[in-house]
Amino acid sequence: MHYLQTTIMKSFCLSGIGVHTGRALTARIEPAAANTGICFWREDVKGQNNKIPAKICNTARAMLCTRIENNEGIGVNTIEHFMSAFFAVGIDNVNIYVDGPEMPIMDGSAYPIVKALLKAGQKQHKYPARYLHIQKEIKVRGENGAWASILPSSGLEICLEIDFPDPGIGRQRIDYSFSTSSYIEKISAARTFCMLRDVENMKHAGLAKGGNLENAVVVDNGKILNSDGLRMQDECVRHKVLDCIGDLFLTCMPIFGRFEAFKPGHTLTLDLLHTLMANKSSYIVKTSSKESVATRGFLNLPKAAAVPA
Ligand SMILES: [Zn+2]
Repeated sequence: MHYLQTTIMKSFCLSGIGVHTGRALTARIEPAAANTGICFWREDVKGQNNKIPAKICNTARAMLCTRIENNEGIGVNTIEHFMSAFFAVGIDNVNIYVDGPEMPIMDGSAYPIVKALLKAGQKQHKYPARYLHIQKEIKVRGENGAWASILPSSGLEICLEIDFPDPGIGRQRIDYSFSTSSYIEKISAARTFCMLRDVENMKHAGLAKGGNLENAVVVDNGKILNSDGLRMQDECVRHKVLDCIGDLFLTCMPIFGRFEAFKPGHTLTLDLLHTLMANKSSYIVKTSSKESVATRGFLNLPKAAAVPA
């Protein structure tokens, strides 16, 4: 059975501040033709190539977020929560026009994006979608004992462990099997997080200028500083799942594989994906997949989940 590529039915805008620049930003999300993929456009850039396709080959080094840039050096930061939401609700092709150098952070989770995508609706193209099936394990190592690997699997599975010195976060582990409905329910609302002791350093480095308790969980010596506390007890590790799903979609295809990591982060995930893409024998690309029909996209949502409150 061939699963068809999709786009959104109607355009929509999302506005908010950029967590790193502190600037007010608006992103307009529009339907795109088959085989476009996820493509970002910098509307504030004139007289230069402002098109930046979201692909692993366009990723660039950035602090604490995922950045893509084109060969003229025009880029966009903090795309990961949007990428995660596009993947999760089953959108393959879309154009995103943004009026600044990063995406709006909104509440620090993917929930407002998922909600807007579900409201916009999904449209099928006539072209079959493609899937990346992992054939053998790829593993990379990062700093301070961090590692990530990807192994063959009949679905998308994410198994992560984080270990932070602040007891407010501490050690958390999750073993998650992706489906659109479980993502909406368990992952989409998990917010980005940081330790108070890192906030001053980030601001010193010119980062997190727009970061505040409205768009991030902040912990200090075992205490959650947000007045409403956490949305779920293991919110931090669930947010890492959200980030990983967004980064994995930079392959431009749903992945059939089991992603495992200790102390995951954007740099580590992107290193793994670069290594995977360079090892052509470690994966195959297929156009048919009955498993994916069962787990990803609008058609698989219970009616009540179609537009969450
Ligand atoms: Zn994030």
